[in-house]
Amino acid sequence: MKIVILGAGFAGHTAALHLVKLVKHNAEIIVISPKNRFTWFPSLVWVGTDTMSADSCIFELAKVYEKLGIKYIEGKATTIWPYKQSVDIELDNGKLESVNYDYLINGTGPYLNFEGTPGLGPATGNSYSICTVEHTAETRSNYLKIIQALKRGQKQTIVIGVGHPLATCEGAAFEYLMNVDFDLRKKGVRDLVSLKWLSNEPEVADFGVDGVETIKRGTLISGASTFRALLDKHDIKIILPAGVTKVEPGLIHYEQVGEDPVALKYDFAMLIPQFRGIPLKYLADDGTNITAQMTQSNGFMTVDADYTPKKYENFCGNDWPEFYVSPKFPNIYAPGIAFAPPHSLSKPKQSNNGLVILATTPRTGMASGIMGRTVAQNIACQITGQKFEHGERLSQMPAACIASTGNDLWYGAAASIVMAPVARDYKRYPKYGRDLNISDLDYGLAGAWTKRLLHHVFMWKLQAKPGWEIIPE
Ligand SMILES: Cc1cc2nc3c(=O)[nH]c(=O)nc-3n(C[C@H](O)[C@H](O)[C@H](O)COP(=O)(O)OP(=O)(O)OC[C@H]3O[C@@H](n4cnc5c(N)ncnc54)[C@H](O)[C@@H]3O)c2cc1C
Repeated sequence: MKIVILGAGFAGHTAALHLVKLVKHNAEIIVISPKNRFTWFPSLVWVGTDTMSADSCIFELAKVYEKLGIKYIEGKATTIWPYKQSVDIELDNGKLESVNYDYLINGTGPYLNFEGTPGLGPATGNSYSICTVEHTAETRSNYLKIIQALKRGQKQTIVIGVGHPLATCEGAAFEYLMNVDFDLRKKGVRDLVSLKWLSNEPEVADFGVDGVETIKRGTLISGASTFRALLDKHDIKIILPAGVTKVEPGLIHYEQVGEDPVALKYDFAMLIPQFRGIPLKYLADDGTNITAQMTQSNGFMTVDADYTPKKYENFCGNDWPEFYVSPKFPNIYAPGIAFAPPHSLSKPKQSNNGLVILATTPRTGMASGIMGRTVAQNIACQITGQKFEHGERLSQMPAACIASTGNDLWYGAAASIVMAPVARDYKRYPKYGRDLNISDLDYGLAGAWTKRLLHHVFMWKLQAKPGWEIIPE
């Protein structure tokens, strides 16, 4: 048996680790991913403010795979032939290759769709990103130039958030915002900065998951009120729900619900682009393009979800996929960001011009890791002739997230958030859609320690160092 994994991120790499444990003796495991490195994205928010080096957030994949007996191919998939079960690859050295498979895991994550917003992104020089190591290094250099200008006494406007009406990953942008605020205060230049949070979320701390809340000592505490208070205390202006439509040098154009379109002046902007599926081509044996049958319109792969169009009020927990498997090909999976969500978790809004502004569904690191493990377990079941046993929908899966607001073990802080489950399920939890005895929200210095600890624990686990199996996703 040959299992081919496309992408060595949170989903693909986790699947690879578990497959080694489960089927190493029955299967050849091959990982295809460009650049020979794993990136621990959660710490890039610190790289972007120069409080951690980029090298601390990455490790070489080839060494880890050699140790585990996994074949690693440095390159990227371009075309999948689902009937003849093979993948075309463009190697990093420019050569082309074709690899056959019995099982295929598409863990290719997001395509960063900067082109979806005219003028957005590092290639234009208008705005920056923290979505790759290279982008973050560039963001840091330009952020440091802003610090120099501030030290010369020049006032600056800094805008942080998302750069497309349908973007996701607001949590990462929010962490960067708070770390910038923390760093500016530490450097004694915060008074000279007008700092703005520009997001497509319907409310502060929606994070694309319809917000977070908990019950403490009998009182309902919402993320929206907690984080609004935090932003207010830190003099950060809130602009939402807003959809960025264009970025020009020094000007961000956006539409906001209930307002006329705005052109906002700025000196430095970090805006996360829209995520789409990696543009893989799917071909039938005769060369017919069947990509539309394998993906949704956003380019993400169609899996065992219920994609029937519905009104927001009618969305339900069982719409979410259980196995992350293609309904057409039971040997092709798409865990992590690569699968197409059946719908959003957040409520969509519209600007006066009819622009849909919607924080689309994130598939966070923890969730992607759980999906990677689930897929590995089910492939192991298929290989040994058993039934699928390991379903885990977003509406069943809990997720924990530590959102840093300052990288310092004495003066820093972080918000610790637990959602159980990620996607609200009003059938199981009629009142809030979540179990608020498990869901949690906390803020303080302990979170800063936890986030730093998680960096080291997961860098250990993901390099398959001794005991990695006992560290959960
Ligand atoms: C700045 C930042 C901070 C974040 N912080 C957090 C956090 O604190 N907590 C949290 O839970 N989540 C966080 N996230 C989200 C988390 O990183 C993602 O949810 C996670 O990376 C998704 O995993 P994935 O495997 O689907 O995609 P990725 O991790 O992006 O992996 C995709 C893989 O596919 C490879 N690939 C791409 N194209 C191809 C191709 N054609 N062929 C083969 N391989 C390909 C890529 O090189 C990569 O190896 C953050 C994200 C960012 C950007």
